[in-house]
Amino acid sequence: MNEFAAVTVGSLMNLPVLVLNASYEAINVCSAKRALKMILKGIALPEKESEYEVRSASLSMRVPHVIRLIHYVKVPHKTVKLTRKNIFLRDQYTCQYCGRRFPPSELTIDHVIPISRGGTNSWRNVVTACKECNNRKGNRTPAEAGMRLIKKPTVPSLYVHIIRSAKGFHSSWSEYLFQE
Ligand SMILES: [Zn+2]
Repeated sequence: MNEFAAVTVGSLMNLPVLVLNASYEAINVCSAKRALKMILKGIALPEKESEYEVRSASLSMRVPHVIRLIHYVKVPHKTVKLTRKNIFLRDQYTCQYCGRRFPPSELTIDHVIPISRGGTNSWRNVVTACKECNNRKGNRTPAEAGMRLIKKPTVPSLYVHIIRSAKGFHSSWSEYLFQE
């Protein structure tokens, strides 16, 4: 038995790793499994390593906390992509009408101003809603339905998003996340 025995290889491979651009700018979070693959492929370099090691017959590698891309990748907009998963992350899996938390399978996306009424598919017009609230609201505006949003939907910041998608962050990330 060694000091790594307490952490199973499976959970180690899911450890969140901060991905930096070649310019040291934080751009994403990935799993340790993906990070190690990127290092092996020569796409990224380990920037901060953990105390954990993974070994195979031919090599041994330290699991990184932070990796950095070797070639600069152009990140067109420092904004978070509008996807179902990202909307749930911004709203922390909480229905924006009744304020209760649900598993993703119980949640839907609600257009505050329905698309059919001229609403857009944008961060400021989409919210997480449970099935019940979404059904109740139907094709109406919150005012018409007599429902209130628990908070105004906003465009999420990339850094807040990185932290939420990783469910917290390792202390070694802070120097890259909070530069400005
Ligand atoms: Zn609800």
